[in-house]
Amino acid sequence: MNMELVFLGTGASTPTVSRNVSAMAVRRGGQSILIDCGEGTQRQVLRTRVSLMSVEAILLTHLHGDHILGLPGALLSMDLLGREAPLVLVGPPGTEDLMKVFLSPFRVSYPVSIREMSGGDDPLEILGCRLTSLSVRHRGKALAYRLDEDPRPGRFDLLEARKLGVVEGPLFGALQRGESVTVNGRVISSDQVLGKSRAGRSLVFSGDTTYFPELGEFALGADALVHEATFAADQAELARKWGHSTSLEAATIAKAAEVDRLFLVHISPRYHQGREGRELLRSAREVFSATDLPNDLDSYEIPLKEE
Ligand SMILES: [Zn+2]
Ligand SMILES: [Zn+2]
Repeated sequence: MNMELVFLGTGASTPTVSRNVSAMAVRRGGQSILIDCGEGTQRQVLRTRVSLMSVEAILLTHLHGDHILGLPGALLSMDLLGREAPLVLVGPPGTEDLMKVFLSPFRVSYPVSIREMSGGDDPLEILGCRLTSLSVRHRGKALAYRLDEDPRPGRFDLLEARKLGVVEGPLFGALQRGESVTVNGRVISSDQVLGKSRAGRSLVFSGDTTYFPELGEFALGADALVHEATFAADQAELARKWGHSTSLEAATIAKAAEVDRLFLVHISPRYHQGREGRELLRSAREVFSATDLPNDLDSYEIPLKEE
C-alpha cells in the first residue's frame, strides 16, 4: 500500500507568494488525512492528487490562526461536494469549543466527530494506523502526532509450503493470515512457512514547538519526521522566545531519534526567497544529512522497508 506525504503549506504565520501557511496531507491507499489546515489549504489541495472527499480525518497540532483558518471553508466545500462520510477532527483541548464557533453560522450535513487529545492518551485508529500524540512546548497547548502502521506479516516461504504438501489456493491465504491448516491429517502452523513479522511505517509531525528533546524519544525509529524549522541556526534565541525551533535543532531531534528522513516545514517568511532558505537547509544537513526542505505541493513516497 502506498504512503505519501504531500506538503500543502510549508510557511509560518502569513502566506507569501512562495509558501502558504501550514497544512499537509498523508495519503495511504485511497484515503488521506490533513494535518493542520491554514487559510487557503483547500485551493492548495486542488493542485495535488489529494481529494477533499478522501479526507478521513483532520489533525490539528494546535489552535493558532496559521494552522486552522482554512478549516471552515474546507468543511463547507466537502458539504457542497455532497460528502456523506463521517469526518474525524482531532486536536488539543479547546478544539471542541473552536468547532462550535466555526460551524455555528453554517450547517454541514455529514457527521463530524471531535476527539481532543492531550498527549499520552489511548491511541486512535486513523488511516488504518495507530495515532498517538505528545504534548510539546509552544505558546498554548500544542501536540506532536505519530502514525504507526501495524506490523506486516513475515515473508511467505512458498517452497517450504509446497514441500509440506500445501496446494496453492485458499490454504495459502489461510497460512498467510497466520492461521493453521490441515493437509492429509497433518496440522501445519503458519510459523512453519511465515518469516518473522516486518515493521510497518511510522510518521511523526512535530507541529509548532520549541526545541524539545523528548520529541526525539517520541519519534524514535520513524521513517519520516516532519519538524518545524521556523528559524535558521543563528536565531536560536528568537526561536525560543516565540516557542519555535531552528533548523539545526530540528536536525538534532532527527539525529537523536534515528529517523530515516527529516522534512523541514513552517519556514518563517524571512527565508522564503533566495539564499537564506538554502542556508537553513545547509546547517541542518551538517547534523543530519537526510534532510529535505520541501516546497509547497511537493510530495514524497514513504517506501516500505524490506527486511
Ligand atoms: Zn504556526
Ligand atoms: Zn503556533
